[in-house]
Amino acid sequence: MQDFKINILSICTNCAKDEFLKKYINEKGIYNQTCILCKKENLMTVDFYWNKEIRTLVRALVRIYFSEFEYSSFWGGVNNLPHLLYIENPILTHIYNENDEFDWVELEEGYGCHRIDLLFETIFEKNLFTDQHEGNEVSLFNGPSTLSGRERANEGYSPFIKLTKDVSSLFTNYELRLQSENHFILESELIEKFLALSHFIENNRDFTKQMSYFRARIGYNNHIAYQDSGIDFDVDFNDRVIKVPYMGADISCPPPPKATAGRLNRVNVSYLYLSSDSETAISEIRPHPSNYVSIGEFSLLEDIRIADFRKINLLHFFKNDRLLDDYVLLSNIAAKFSIPITPEEKEGYLFTQLITEVFRKIGFDGICFNSSISNNNGYNLVIFNPNKAEYKQGSSVLKRVEKVKFETVNEKFDSKFDYENEEDYIVFKEGRWQT
Ligand SMILES: [Zn+2]
Repeated sequence: MQDFKINILSICTNCAKDEFLKKYINEKGIYNQTCILCKKENLMTVDFYWNKEIRTLVRALVRIYFSEFEYSSFWGGVNNLPHLLYIENPILTHIYNENDEFDWVELEEGYGCHRIDLLFETIFEKNLFTDQHEGNEVSLFNGPSTLSGRERANEGYSPFIKLTKDVSSLFTNYELRLQSENHFILESELIEKFLALSHFIENNRDFTKQMSYFRARIGYNNHIAYQDSGIDFDVDFNDRVIKVPYMGADISCPPPPKATAGRLNRVNVSYLYLSSDSETAISEIRPHPSNYVSIGEFSLLEDIRIADFRKINLLHFFKNDRLLDDYVLLSNIAAKFSIPITPEEKEGYLFTQLITEVFRKIGFDGICFNSSISNNNGYNLVIFNPNKAEYKQGSSVLKRVEKVKFETVNEKFDSKFDYENEEDYIVFKEGRWQT
């Protein structure tokens, strides 16, 4: 709760567009102040003038949604701060009331300014760009000079990358090292790293005893139909063969000697892969049209402690650059779990297998992550000890795949880029970008 102070720059949950900004205002806001953007009164608001934390959060969101190229005119980008927030943007509403033109705020005797200008000045102008990285603030960068003291500068920090699209240098380093070092050499280092981060992703509330999950497997068993009528004679089905979905052990995880390497498990390690719903379970095994798929239901035999990668909560990480780097690392890992790797690139599993091993050693029962191929926001749950869940007798069903749907997006590229023309190249050399 903010102390009672005169309302200068209160903004409401509705005018916050980013979900974490909304969440912050809901958690830390107060009622009955007029929002300076929508002019409504009966909503939660936080005053940006008095609350430094929310200004840091907006700076973190700028880093997440925009590359330095977009927010700093140093690189010749078309926009810069605070202009990026005057136009449509993913952080704050940009619909300013006509009356805002005349909305002046008096801060002290004889000194006043335009309220919206004051808002952006408060967020950005005072120390718009941080020259020295001091570890207690979110830096906004303005060209190569401001990269000094920043670890990532030496590791190829690029002004063209925004954190939503960024690959953490920590993540890249671990992946690279796995190409030449055995996994157990990195393991102790990673255990230390993730012990420090584990409480941010620990979930011991949502995965409780008797909750149901689904598992799918392509195929079925053939059985010869035979009906026991219970009276003198049996109905003869003429030995008709019928398709029966896999049940019990047939649809559970394979025993260790038969377990092949998967996204999270190494060869001969048998983890139980489950999905939140049957459609997601089917999507995850990527069947072809006309395949028959067996689906079985499993229920948890006890409450379990899960490393939950479904939604990394930015509100734990926005207060300084070092935490933001951890946010990017965890988001990269979450993405790596979610995106299926094509069979040709199976070595791509080395890192997710290692991370999984680390979380198992830290004491988690499993890992949960979004399914990127589910159509209904489904998620996957991988349980290290398969005995913590049990097949539900009689739950199996058999489905035939009618249609497989693909969604494609256009991969952006700049057709004007002339690879023959040297002037189009930019090189990071001797501590600065050079053409
Ligand atoms: Zn509002």
